[in-house]
Amino acid sequence: MAEVERHAYDVVVIGAGGAGLRAVIEARQRGLRVAVVCKSLFGKAHTVMAEGGCAAAMGNANSKDSWQVHFQDTMRGGKFLNNWRMAELHAREAPDRVWELETYGALFDRTADGRISQRNFGGHTYPRLAHVGDRTGLELIRTMQQKIVSLQQEDFAQTGDYEARIKVFAECTITELLREDGKIAGAFGYWRESGRFAIFEAPAVVMATGGIGKTWKVTSNSWEYTGDGHALALRAGANLINMEFVQFHPTGMVWPPSVKGILVTEGVRGDGGVLKNSDGARFMFDYIPSVFKGQYAETEEEADKWLQDNESARRTPDLLPRDEVARAINSEVKAGRSTPHGGVYLDIASRMPADEIVRRLPSMHHQFLELADVDITKEQMEVGPTCHYVMGGIEVDPDTGSSSVPGLFAAGECSGGMHGSNRLGGNSLSDLLVFGRRAGLGAATYVESLDRRPAVSAADVDAAAAMALAPFDPPEVGSVGENPYTLHTELQQSMNDLVGIIRTDSEIRLALDKLEDIRHRISSVTVEGHRQFNPGWHLALDLRNMVLVSECVAKAALLRTESRGGHTRDDHPAMEAPWRNTLLVCSVVGGADSGGRAVPDVTVAPEPQQPMRPDLFSLFDFGELSKYYTDAELAEHPGKGD
Ligand code: FAD
Repeated sequence: MAEVERHAYDVVVIGAGGAGLRAVIEARQRGLRVAVVCKSLFGKAHTVMAEGGCAAAMGNANSKDSWQVHFQDTMRGGKFLNNWRMAELHAREAPDRVWELETYGALFDRTADGRISQRNFGGHTYPRLAHVGDRTGLELIRTMQQKIVSLQQEDFAQTGDYEARIKVFAECTITELLREDGKIAGAFGYWRESGRFAIFEAPAVVMATGGIGKTWKVTSNSWEYTGDGHALALRAGANLINMEFVQFHPTGMVWPPSVKGILVTEGVRGDGGVLKNSDGARFMFDYIPSVFKGQYAETEEEADKWLQDNESARRTPDLLPRDEVARAINSEVKAGRSTPHGGVYLDIASRMPADEIVRRLPSMHHQFLELADVDITKEQMEVGPTCHYVMGGIEVDPDTGSSSVPGLFAAGECSGGMHGSNRLGGNSLSDLLVFGRRAGLGAATYVESLDRRPAVSAADVDAAAAMALAPFDPPEVGSVGENPYTLHTELQQSMNDLVGIIRTDSEIRLALDKLEDIRHRISSVTVEGHRQFNPGWHLALDLRNMVLVSECVAKAALLRTESRGGHTRDDHPAMEAPWRNTLLVCSVVGGADSGGRAVPDVTVAPEPQQPMRPDLFSLFDFGELSKYYTDAELAEHPGKGD
């Protein structure tokens, strides 16, 4: 058998972002031994980058807020394609999870009377985002790490070993899930520094690896977001859902080129910033879609009044859900009303005093000054859409986070369903807390129920090692293989150009041809040097995951012949009611045991959603639902005929 380091745990959590850490805490609190494995440094997960805040209907800024209103907003934002049970659990439990963070030591910004302050964000009826300036994710991660340290101190007091129940394996990348008879038996990975292999034997794995944004050229995402968890789960036999829905955040930096795509938080608009085109016009008033007519201010006066008092005026269309704002910006640019660098303007400078801007948005002020030499207290920002978040992910049971593979659980951005076709800002941080906890609990309950733990086989370890080492072998002696950086650049360019914010049948087909070409060439990717810290090798391994998830996105995007949320088809511009009830489910052709290839073929099949529970359904009035549902689906609605 290949030379590997072995570790045995009850639960292995892959990923140390918000979802992973919350799962670790929960499984440990059930008394289990937990390993957390992450490919970056501990504390440097993507969650750290979250800026604007964490959505939870605490009602601090407006006492009319409630979990029901949060639930309704989330379903509207996702264009009613969300898994409604997840949206319900999320809206009900988010306030408790935020409070709980304060018991771990978090300190959110405060209102004048000492309650947790809540800010406005796109698609949320009331100010709802608990925040720490524009560095909320940092506080979230810092706090959960602190909680983990305090649990380790308890373990030390009991056992004399800080790592008796929680151990962190940082800078270790998982490349394979190991199974016995279809059940999870562990995970295989390599240390980034030494290139040596390690296996983690455990009957339960919680996948919490985040998103897929590094597949696109212009993205707000960091280097870790290569869709590893999505691909690992798929190859282990789990399903992915909603992969056609990719969120392009409306406001990324567009200049200078070296920082193109870096996020400009929605908090800028939440705190009063407005979008303008090159004519100086606040164009968002021209882009209120019919499904939201009546819910948004129609004049600048009303929108500005709403900022002061969200009772007597309707909200500004600058804060429509992200998909709507991104499309509007795209249209303005296409119509020739763009800024010099191909974006639109975002103006906070004329909206509030300079010291207030620096106090509320310190990171944005710093970011623009350092990276673009723009002082946002004096000048407008130039912004445009950037690939930001994937709504699609591993199909899970809402209550437990379990996938269809026994022992495999998922939470956070790598899981699917909660956000439907479009996520509301702030709903990710709360999602991580709610479903991270549930997945940790689900995994613990599963482990406790087992009579016997599945075993890792030597043959599977050898196969995983061979797969990982393949890029060191040239396809033929003396030949030069493909360069992983070249392939990655080609992949990013084609996903950006052909499966981006606006899609068409012919362009998606071109993308699929390109993916087929890349998939062929990937088998001859060759890297030089040895296994000690070798970024080319790391990319070669990540690339296989990116190609696999790209296929899922492109194939699902081709099938969905309508426009909804984060999927806009120029050739099918309308939202079609019969599609609302349809999930597109990606799986590996022939199942998990069909040849063990790094980039297996995927198939996409439609699956109907479970109808919404009647008490939740009746929270919406008939008029609103009729914009999304078919007549047949609404036949039983109590408001029919009103
Ligand atoms: P992450 O935090 O990304 O963690 C993933 C972990 O998995 C990392 O530790 C990584 O190293 C590890 N990993 C990945 N692959 C492997 C592998 N193969 N082996 C081992 N480890 C692996 N959302 C909000 O709700 N509010 C906001 O204000 C907000 N602001 C944002 C600002 C920016 C700039 C960005 C990019 C996103 C923002 N989001 C926001 C979205 C939100 O931050 C993310 O969706 C969320 O943090 C994802 O958390 P996660 O726990 O799922 O994954």
